[in-house]
Amino acid sequence: MPGKSTVTVHADRHVHPSRAVAPPIHQTAAFSAEDGETFARAATEARGQDFYTRFGNPNHAQVAAVVAELEGTEAAMVTASGMAALTTAVLALVSAGDHVIGQRSTYGGTASVLLNLLPRLGVTTTLVDQTDPEAFERALTSRTRLILVETPSNPLLQITDLRAVVELAHAHEVVTMADNTFATPLNQRPAEFGVDLVWHSATKYLNGHSDVSAGVIAGPAALLDPIWDTSLLTGATLGPIDAWLLLRGMRTLPLRIPRHNANGQALAEALHEHPAVSRVHYPGLASHPQHKLAADQMSGYGGVLGVEFTGGFAMADAFLGALRYPRRSASLGGVESLAVHPASMWRGMLSEDQLAEAVPPGLVRLAAGTEDTADLVADALAAADAVRGAA
Ligand SMILES: *Cc1c(COP(=O)(O)O)cnc(C)c1O
Repeated sequence: MPGKSTVTVHADRHVHPSRAVAPPIHQTAAFSAEDGETFARAATEARGQDFYTRFGNPNHAQVAAVVAELEGTEAAMVTASGMAALTTAVLALVSAGDHVIGQRSTYGGTASVLLNLLPRLGVTTTLVDQTDPEAFERALTSRTRLILVETPSNPLLQITDLRAVVELAHAHEVVTMADNTFATPLNQRPAEFGVDLVWHSATKYLNGHSDVSAGVIAGPAALLDPIWDTSLLTGATLGPIDAWLLLRGMRTLPLRIPRHNANGQALAEALHEHPAVSRVHYPGLASHPQHKLAADQMSGYGGVLGVEFTGGFAMADAFLGALRYPRRSASLGGVESLAVHPASMWRGMLSEDQLAEAVPPGLVRLAAGTEDTADLVADALAAADAVRGAA
């Protein structure tokens, strides 16, 4: 088995090979065929690449080849965004009357699919505390078809015990699907624990340069085939040039992730000691309540941390304003550090009670980029000193 840096550079070599060293961009909506038989074959091949771009495109297939090999799955497919990956998979896998289990701490869009979209379609859902593996078991019903997990979770960096959830799901023939956006296959490979489907917001670390929205789903062909069929109907097709940019971004994923990991760890350790900080949520800290589980499942802890300030909402907001390098932005996973104050971002979307339950008011989500570690740490400590002095 070649190493991950070799995989990201070469795993797509067999897909639409050409003499061009950099893969050409197939910026076309449709492909022609020589004869009727070839045309009919191209039209029905799951995740094919030479019929119609909504059905597949060489640039999609190249991304999918790299993702499948990195995640250790049989196949993969690409979508126009992470949310397109999730909704397409869910619409393919569940029907009215079915039940889905998700997590309480999870990406906002995933929570909304569970709380709003699925119930409207007659699918019941239960959101559980993912730090308690038995909570999944208690939520299980005879109609449960799917368990959605996200580990580490956004924005509280809680860890899900993948082995325990998979064991439960397999005993009851329930499909498991893991959001691996935060960890990436460099730090965690859910399929190795038996998770059926692994999905990403490829907008984040996989692309890594904050210039593309994209999603991927990896898993066995037998599960991806119905999801691909559904994707023809939902139509959330990734543009060929965006697939090409995503492939280019992924080439350097194994070079970028160790720096994100180092920066995340250094920021967590430095801020954890600071008097303006009441708590740092980062699975790489020995003080994280699930550090042992994280160490068992992950080989690195990523660049995202949650930092809670002693001065609540106002101090968290002031900290963002005092930072020199990380800009105020909702995204993460790019080479540039970004920071967000979830309580101000969600204030307009949630009621006071919902907001209080979703996130501590003094929490900042810091997404470390690939800048020099010493610069990021000095910047964060100076900003923390400044807000402490002002309080
Ligand atoms: C951003 C994000 C998503 C949604 O992905 P999009 O590409 O924005 O649609 C899903 N899960 C996690 C953990 C994310 O951070």
